[in-house]
Amino acid sequence: MDVQAEEASFLPVTGDTFKFRCHKGIACFTHCCAKLNLVLTPYDILRLKKRLGVSSEDFLEKFTDTKVDSNSRFPRVTLKMNGDKNGTCPFVTPEGCSIYEDRPGACRFYPLGRAAMKLDRDVRAKEKFFLVRETHCRGFEENREWTVQEWISNEGLEEYNVLNDLWLEIVTSKKSLGPEAQISRKLQMFFMASYNLDKFREFLFKSPFFERFEVDADQKEALAADDVALMKFAFQWLKFSLFGQETIQIKKLGP
Ligand code: SF4
Ligand code: SF4
Repeated sequence: MDVQAEEASFLPVTGDTFKFRCHKGIACFTHCCAKLNLVLTPYDILRLKKRLGVSSEDFLEKFTDTKVDSNSRFPRVTLKMNGDKNGTCPFVTPEGCSIYEDRPGACRFYPLGRAAMKLDRDVRAKEKFFLVRETHCRGFEENREWTVQEWISNEGLEEYNVLNDLWLEIVTSKKSLGPEAQISRKLQMFFMASYNLDKFREFLFKSPFFERFEVDADQKEALAADDVALMKFAFQWLKFSLFGQETIQIKKLGP
């Protein structure tokens, strides 16, 4: 999770393993689920909107804030904490996380942090792991030992990493967004294709998109029915529409 620096220290994973265990009987149970600057990725939003049975638009409206700052040229979406005095996460209950199977990647990773970078030419992201040691967290006093890979498997992070790394290529790209006059429109497209997946589907199917771009019948069917296929296509589209990369083919006109 993205935590305040004064409440946490960031340490390298020394050796091959780390010790940690989080469980319902621990004194600090759910103390970490409050006052978070929890940045959501497109795949986090996909999982959460499905879990809650709402559209991506409704999810964004009800559960998120949008932030623009000097850390990125693209807008970021964060989970809106409750307005109570503790600033609790909207999904925390006395029993724990109410959306546990679909909790965001950052919640799954904790107490690990992952710094990753993926360039077009890389097949896999370059990644580094560190421990985020929050002062209130007693999980480090427990005796369960993990390798990083065991933790990733145990927390179901493989699929998150695949989708998040595809998106990372876009948000960390150094490629130009083109003329100033086009940037606002491009950022709107970025927001829709990244975060508002149901709206992006409407954009594909309710505009002349398929008359202008090469998409075969099987892929079109997948885009209509499969959110993960749609998200992967949205990332291809963003590379084309933001940076002019040849990731989508324009249909040839005429005989
Ligand atoms: S052990 Fe750490 S992660 Fe688990 S509930 Fe306590 S503060 Fe949260
Ligand atoms: S989503 Fe779940 S695990 Fe993450 S902060 Fe909220 S309650 Fe805690």
